[in-house]
Parts: sequence; structure tokens; C-alpha cells
Amino acid sequence: MARIVESVTAMRALVTEARKKGKSIGFVPTMGALHAGHLELMKEAKKLCDVVVVSIFVNPTQFGPNEDFDAYPRTWDEDLAACRSVGVDAVFHPPARELYPDGWGTWVDVGGVTDKLCGKSRPTHFRGVATVVTKLFNIVQPDKAFFGQKDAQQVIVLKKMVRDLDMFNEIVMVPIVREADGLAKSSRNAYLSQEQRQAALVLNQSLSTAFDMAASGERDITAIKAAVLRHIQSVSLANVDYVEIYSFPDLAEIDILDQDALLAVAVKFGSTRLIDNIILTPKRT
Ligand code: AMP
Repeated sequence: MARIVESVTAMRALVTEARKKGKSIGFVPTMGALHAGHLELMKEAKKLCDVVVVSIFVNPTQFGPNEDFDAYPRTWDEDLAACRSVGVDAVFHPPARELYPDGWGTWVDVGGVTDKLCGKSRPTHFRGVATVVTKLFNIVQPDKAFFGQKDAQQVIVLKKMVRDLDMFNEIVMVPIVREADGLAKSSRNAYLSQEQRQAALVLNQSLSTAFDMAASGERDITAIKAAVLRHIQSVSLANVDYVEIYSFPDLAEIDILDQDALLAVAVKFGSTRLIDNIILTPKRT
């Protein structure tokens, strides 16, 4: 039965106890509204670690002033049941004042890889993510922490943070879990109308177009980006935020697909902004 933990002190006590027994700790940070994508991270954590801790915390510092912090879905009862269904050991569910008490004011700012893609559209987002993940790592002290490729830039930012700050935690990236029709699972899919939900299929479809182009030997990054953009813009409800390709995992500018590359897209359907991505590999000759 998963323990529910609400304070930093109790969380520390739990992991200290586990460590004394020589157990490894796996950690899955989430903002709740759990779906099969989150569960995949937990299952991977169960496979690789003795004790699995999931955090459910809608982190205010990673939302911009006009974003959906207040509207973000909060489904605690279902989330707890989901964690228990996969055998999670502890669910860390702190109130906001526990992580951000009066007088709090220290930030973690990761340089270099945060000024593009979602970092460009959401300028304060990764500072909030890096800060809360640092705090959570300090509290939970995981050996391994599990994050989804769904937020590929987040994985890149956090791996850099761990390297730059000499943290001991290993970041494990888990592949994207999709609906049967290809839409990447996301807590924000709940905001979509039926029409928008249908239109949003263009994300995965446009990534597949790019995948096929790369597989058949196309190496021109501009041509691949243009094809993806055209594909998405053919859907009238889709409002493109960005379509970008950078080297993976460095996020450097590239003109030719001669190494692994991240094709990432962000598209708005009404006021709902969805992201998706794929890692393109050059055709081996
Ligand atoms: P969130 O609750 O949206 O902050 O997500 C928590 C974790 O779940 C992050 O590491 C996400 O990348 C991951 N995640 C979200 N959606 C998916 C998905 N469809 N497939 C795999 N991982 C996901």
C-alpha cells in the first residue's frame, strides 16, 4: 500500500529508512492527472529500483503568468489509485507552502539548452522545472529519476543540470506513450473539444512524415522542417508555435541530418498547447 507523504521531514525519514536497508530509490516526479504515460515511468522505476517514490505536485513556478496553473487538472483520488495499481511505495504530495515557504527565493537556472524550443515560448518554464526538480532530488535523494521523452527538452535540461551541478542522480528517459490513434498521452488532452482532439492527430502524423523522409534518405533539415510545417498547417484548427530540428542530445543547430536529431513541435488547438517529438536518425548507407 503506497504511503501518502505530505511533509519534507516525513519524506526524508522514509528514504533514510530505505537507504539504511540498502535499498535503491527510484523517483517519478509528476504534476498528477495521471495517465498511461506516467504509469510507464512508474513501471520502469519498479523494474530498476527497490523503492519507488512518485511525487504529485502542480508546481506553480514552472507556469508563466498567463498559463493554465489554476485550470490544470487535479485528480487526486484517481491518481492515488493509479499509483497503487502499479505498486508504488510512496506518494509525495506536499502542499505548495511546504516547498515554497515564506521567504523562499533561490532558483536553479540551466544555461545553454533552455533558450530554444519550449524555453523560447515559455521563458520562465525551465527555471521553475530545474528548481523544483532540484528541491525534489534533495528531498527524495533518488538513485534514478524517470522522465518521459514526451518532454524531451526537459530531459536534456535536467541531464545538463545534473552534470553541471555534480548531482549524483541518474536521469532515465522513457519513450512516449500514445493513444491508439497516435496522439501522445498528455494531461492537457482533457482540455480538447472533440474537433480539436481529431485535429491534434496531425502532430503524430507530421512526425511520421518526417520519419519516413529521413528513412528514405532525406538529409536536408530545411526540407524536412518545411514538410512538417506544411502538414500541420493543412489543418485549420492547428496554430503552430514551433517546428524545430536540433541535434540530439546537444540541441545544436544543424543543416544536414548526419547524426541523431530531435524534431520537436508545439501547436495550439484553441487555447490548448500540445507538444510532441521524435528522434530522427540518418539513413545508414
Ligand atoms: P507531467 O505530469 O506532465 O509533468 O509529466 C510527468 C512526467 O511524465 C514527465 O517526465 C513527462 O515527460 C512524463 N510524461 C507525460 N506524458 C507522457 C507520455 N505520453 N509518455 C511518456 N511520458 C510522459
